[in-house]
Parts: sequence; C-alpha cells; structure tokens
Amino acid sequence: MSKHYLHLGLIGYPIEHSYSAILHTAALKAHGLNGEYNLHKIPPLPDGEKKLEELFNFMREGEITGLNVTIPHKRNVIRFLDKLSDISTRIDAVNTIAFQNGCLFGTNTDADGFLNDLKIKAAGYIVLEQSVISDSANRANALILGAGGAARAIAFSLLVSGWNITIAARKLEQARSLMENLNRHFVNSIIKAVDLSKNVLEEVAGDISLLINATSAGMFPNADLNSWPEGVSLPPECFVYDLVYNPGITKLMKQAEIENIPNAGGIGMLVEQAVLSFEIWTGMHVSREVLFESIRDIM
Ligand code: NAP
Repeated sequence: MSKHYLHLGLIGYPIEHSYSAILHTAALKAHGLNGEYNLHKIPPLPDGEKKLEELFNFMREGEITGLNVTIPHKRNVIRFLDKLSDISTRIDAVNTIAFQNGCLFGTNTDADGFLNDLKIKAAGYIVLEQSVISDSANRANALILGAGGAARAIAFSLLVSGWNITIAARKLEQARSLMENLNRHFVNSIIKAVDLSKNVLEEVAGDISLLINATSAGMFPNADLNSWPEGVSLPPECFVYDLVYNPGITKLMKQAEIENIPNAGGIGMLVEQAVLSFEIWTGMHVSREVLFESIRDIM
C-alpha cells in the first residue's frame, strides 16, 4: 500500500444520484492505493460561492488531491483555478481538477469520455470520423439537446470529429451563445442553434444521424421527463445517445426502443471519463472492467 493518502471527491448539486464515489473507490482499491472519494454538495451560485471558495482554499493547502465537477458548477469553478488545459479552455467547462506542483489545474474528460464510448456503442450505425469527408455540406448532422456544461463538451468533441451540429435548447439564447462561441473555433463546420420545441424538432429530424440528450431531463429523481417533445417521432435514421445514466434506461431510450432506433445511455461515458480523471490524479490506468464491475448491481 502507498503511504500517500488520496483525498478525491465530487462537487455538484444535486449529487446523491452520482456513481462516481463507487467508481473511484473501486479504482483506488484495484491499484492498492490509500484514499477516499467524498461528495461535496454545493448549492448553485450565489448561495454556493463561499463554500466553493473554502473548498479550493482547502485544496491549495494540499488537503484535497483531486476533484470532479458536475451540475451546476462546471463553469463556475474556472475562476478559482490557476491553469486550464487546452481542451477545457476551448470547451469553457471543467469536470476534473488536480492540485499539481502547487497549482490548481482544471481539465475536461467529458469530451474524450463521450467519444471513447460512442466509438464502442455506435460502431456499425454511424461513421464517427466525419472529417474524412472533405466537403462539410456532405458531412453528417448531430442534434444536441441542451446547451449546458455537458452539451459544450459533446459539441466540441463532435466538431473535432468533423460533424455538423444543431444545438436545441429551451432557452434559445443559450443555444445561440454556444453556437457563436463554437463558430469561432470551427469555421469549416455547419453549426446551428434552434429552439427545443415540437415544431422545430419535427422540421430538423429528417436530416439527423446522431441525437444526443445532454439535458438533465430524465435524470433521477425526474425519470418521468423526456427532453424530446411528446408526440414527435425520433429521427428515423439515427443513433440515440442519452448522457443520463441514472436510471440506466431513460424515457428517451424507451421511446427509441419502441421506434426501433439503436440507442445507448450515459453509463459508458461515465466510466470512460472516470478512467481519464483517475489517470490525471494518480498517473495510473484503471480498466473499464473494474469500474463496470463496481456498479454492476446498481445499473
Ligand atoms: P447543466 O449545465 O445544468 O445543463 C443542463 C441543460 O439541460 C441546460 O441546457 C438546461 O436548460 C437543460 N434542461 C434541464 N431540464 C430540461 C428539460 N426538462 N427540458 C429541456 N431542457 C432541460 O448540466 P450538465 O452538466 O450539462 O449535465 C446535463 C446532463 O448530462 C445531466 O443529466 C448529467 O448527469 C449528464 N452528464 C452525464 C455524463 C456522463 O458521464 N454520462 C457526463 C456529464 C453530464 P435550462 O438552462 O433551460 O434549465
């Protein structure tokens, strides 16, 4: 056993639904490392401001080794950090923080975690690497529901892979602001922002090869919600990926099953991003199998 004790954890609100503590505890055990993973429930700003500040002061004193960040703080934490990875700067959201060489370093493992899992789950249904098609007008379209922290990471990862994307949010200005930000980095892709409404989605559905739910609709304890509007069929020729992982089968996935559309939930992405975060904190690679095994009974 290592003498060094690792203090890991998660900042979020709510966080009761999270599996991260189970995953990282299993990872620590698999590598014979001493440590723990704690949940830090910090309310949305402005109420959570003081608590965030306290936590980062604590981290600077070396009392916390690494943190994950989830809803609603992925962007709120940025101003407390000393250094950002290139990817988190471009996504403008952080989900992993490490205290390294006296410096608070933030990065984002959601984008690569998503792509790694999509590669496995959607193999045979979609061509993931759209950049092989030189004319952007001929590249496939992905529709992303939601314009929050996770949607930013998903949009970024798909644009890097050459996709054209449409972002649909119930607050149109949120989708537009994300589109404008992405347009600055990805001049060769077609990026659109639309209202997440019945009429609009009916109109765009025909041209969609990949539909991603990056909203929190359907997530515990609101498992009866579906971000896809009621009474509208899903895009007929697409793969559906729901980032929500608790419950394991969401309302959107059930709709996809009924309409015979291949689909996957967010548990694989959760595992993939955890593998990458653990590597940043410890320099060690934990196998997906170890992590899946740790949550087998609750999935
Ligand atoms: P966030 O920053 O709070 O953003 C949530 C987005 O969802 C916002 O655009 C919000 O719109 C929208 N939204 C919430 N409820 C909605 C509803 N009923 N209908 C339509 N839109 C709705 O959260 P996030 O960090 O992006 O996370 C989003 C989801 O992804 C969460 O369920 C999270 O657990 C999941 N996630 C999973 C993984 C994984 O590894 N599988 C990783 C990251 C995130 P408003 O602003 O209008 O409320």
